[in-house]
Amino acid sequence: MLNLLLINGIIITADPCHTIHDPGYIGVEGDKIACIGKMAGTVLPQARRVIDLKGCPVLPGLIDGHGHAGHCLTKTLAEHLGGDDWENLVESIYYRYSDEDFWYTEGALAAAERLKFGVTTGVSMVGNTPRIDRLWPIAASLAGSVSAGIRQLTGIGAANGPWPKTCRTYRPDGSYEEYAVTPQMAWAATEEAVRTLNGCHPRQMCIVAPGRMGYRQWESVEDNIAHNQEMLRIAQQYNVPIHTHAYGGDVQFLYDHTPEALTPRLSLTHSTGYSEAEIDILARTGAYVFHGPTTHAHINRRCQVVEMLERGVNMAVITDGTSPDRSFDLWRDMKNVQLLQRAHFHDASLLPCGKVLEMVTIEPARALGIDHLVGSLEVGKKADFIRVNTRQPHLAPFGIMPIQRLVYHAMGQDVDLVVVNGEIMMEGRTLTQLDEEALLDRAAEAFARTMARTGRQLSDLCDNPNLYALRQ
Ligand SMILES: [Zn+2]
Repeated sequence: MLNLLLINGIIITADPCHTIHDPGYIGVEGDKIACIGKMAGTVLPQARRVIDLKGCPVLPGLIDGHGHAGHCLTKTLAEHLGGDDWENLVESIYYRYSDEDFWYTEGALAAAERLKFGVTTGVSMVGNTPRIDRLWPIAASLAGSVSAGIRQLTGIGAANGPWPKTCRTYRPDGSYEEYAVTPQMAWAATEEAVRTLNGCHPRQMCIVAPGRMGYRQWESVEDNIAHNQEMLRIAQQYNVPIHTHAYGGDVQFLYDHTPEALTPRLSLTHSTGYSEAEIDILARTGAYVFHGPTTHAHINRRCQVVEMLERGVNMAVITDGTSPDRSFDLWRDMKNVQLLQRAHFHDASLLPCGKVLEMVTIEPARALGIDHLVGSLEVGKKADFIRVNTRQPHLAPFGIMPIQRLVYHAMGQDVDLVVVNGEIMMEGRTLTQLDEEALLDRAAEAFARTMARTGRQLSDLCDNPNLYALRQ
């Protein structure tokens, strides 16, 4: 007998044939999809629970291929300062003022936000570039994330310079140990994390996620080559994907010195400013570009989304949530990527809705090496899917052109059922794995405790004198 059977809905599979079953059903046994198809002429199997979708759509859980653990407790802070001021602020919070509860609570909060927007798989870099001294921040972040029920890939790897970095680990009595961190310590921590933190929790993977790969201008050519090779070695030895930031020049440098890193198991975010030669390298090697349409990187320098897709580069769309100015609502970024590319080329035909939907489902699954598990609705795959409540004025009448109506008109808050690994993790906008009210209170306490440690006046980081001017 099935655990769960959903009937009378529009089942958007995102499978290789772009199959839509309308009206259709989908059944779950254990953690997998046991059956899927059209209602007409089907003798439905027995199930412990049957949900009548009443015409609402079910689609694969969204996959957000890039975000930063930590950012949910620092969002909007100092956003008007920008640039180095903002970078220095969040780095100091993550490296010197955060404790274990900060990372656990933030991990749970981020996962709760993502799940409630229909994101069933999230990728997070711990910290900003990231924090890399010891294992406890990433261990706590992973534990917090999975407590909400999400499928989580969290990573660390050597952080961006300058080195050494000053880190603190807090003791229960509030005192702390302070120490310096070198790149070599960061490499060792990366390997230890990937070696020991995989398999600790269900639905979780620890991956290699350095702040940047390629040519980082604060280090010598030799040090950059050593860094790139070490990140690759760890990923290969423990069979995990590599996820990192990269910009113009980085792909060429990797190709010249560590070409074996350029495979479909490498995902490069935010990928702005690439040369023609670099786009060719990406197309030939299959390395992925994870594009965040509202990232600062894309504001400063364009990510050539359409040009890369035309040349056959593998791409996915990500949020880069959540600090300082964006959320984990991947539905917004489906619209943002269309809007920004269409405006740039003055061409409203670019990036049709089906293409964009694949860029937040099956494409990121391929890049992360989990497309045999998730990313589309097919028998035998993990039961990771979402229902959108289309019985609402802004989505009615629903039935024709379901993909266009979802991509153009739905938002994260319209998702009202989330199933991950065969388990209902959110239903009727209520999370099932944790007490959301208690989590919100715990997050407020973690934020207050962390900010008190910084010794900074909150008003310095919050009060923007130009909030209503043309420019801040
Ligand atoms: Zn990022």
